[in-house]
Amino acid sequence: MGELALIARVKEMLGEPGGRVLTGPGDDAAVVRADGVSVTSIDTVVDGVHFELATHSPADVGHKALATALSDIAAMGAEPGEAYVSLALPDGFGEEAATQLVEAMRALALRTGTTIAGGDVVSGPVLYVSVSVTGWAPGPEQLVYRSGARDGDLVGVTGELGGSGAGLLVLRGAPGSPALVERHRRPQPRLAEGRALAAAGASAMIDVSDGVGTDARHLADSSGVQIEIELAKLPLADGVSDPAFAATAGDDYELLFTALPERRAAIEAAVPVTWLGGVRAGAGAVFRDAAGRVVDLEGFEHVR
Ligand SMILES: [Mg+2]
Repeated sequence: MGELALIARVKEMLGEPGGRVLTGPGDDAAVVRADGVSVTSIDTVVDGVHFELATHSPADVGHKALATALSDIAAMGAEPGEAYVSLALPDGFGEEAATQLVEAMRALALRTGTTIAGGDVVSGPVLYVSVSVTGWAPGPEQLVYRSGARDGDLVGVTGELGGSGAGLLVLRGAPGSPALVERHRRPQPRLAEGRALAAAGASAMIDVSDGVGTDARHLADSSGVQIEIELAKLPLADGVSDPAFAATAGDDYELLFTALPERRAAIEAAVPVTWLGGVRAGAGAVFRDAAGRVVDLEGFEHVR
């Protein structure tokens, strides 16, 4: 199947654009009605680097590419809007596989209120999926940035950690449950949680892509503060027992955030969260064990 025929097939699968999209796939460019400020992020996944087709179906890849892009929109507290998709397909990646990839992407788009408003298909040496997503907010003050954490804030996280990293180990032959594998193959962007945390007054936020160990340091660096986390408080996914693993494995796509202590009740009423520690003057991220000793996470290798 040629690229033009495949583009036509994808366009047919996507159906009518909705919401803000005035002109979607089919013209030279998409036309979208703007709303306050736009929030744009791009994410690319490449076979052999971010996933392996040996352990991921085309549908897993389509889902993951859009999910990881949407996770950045969630981390800003924005409303998801439009996605623009660039696909490079290698020889032998047939129409059936391409259709499954787009169908899984479309299913996640539908579920999250995202419109796939444009894209491109080319041939390439390996499977490559790049997704740009635009989210929307009424104004810049409705968004949550990495730079807003202040001395005295609390630190919290949504969901559970370590599941995706453990799932990758299961794919490589370690014992473990199918739920962990699912967690790795089908991450869920925490869009509703991100908007709820923004509305409830989170002061800084980031999605957990590299692991809480690294992502807490990103928040601390952007805010000019120190973030202190008690390792024993990390919410571990079922089947994960080592908090240091959960802090470093990454790809969980939960939301790590800070908030003033007086926002605690409002946040707990809006989103199930786990409180991990606090913000203070200083620099970097510090992890402590139950005895209060500083734990060096540097020794823990990334699973990837
Ligand atoms: Mg991110």
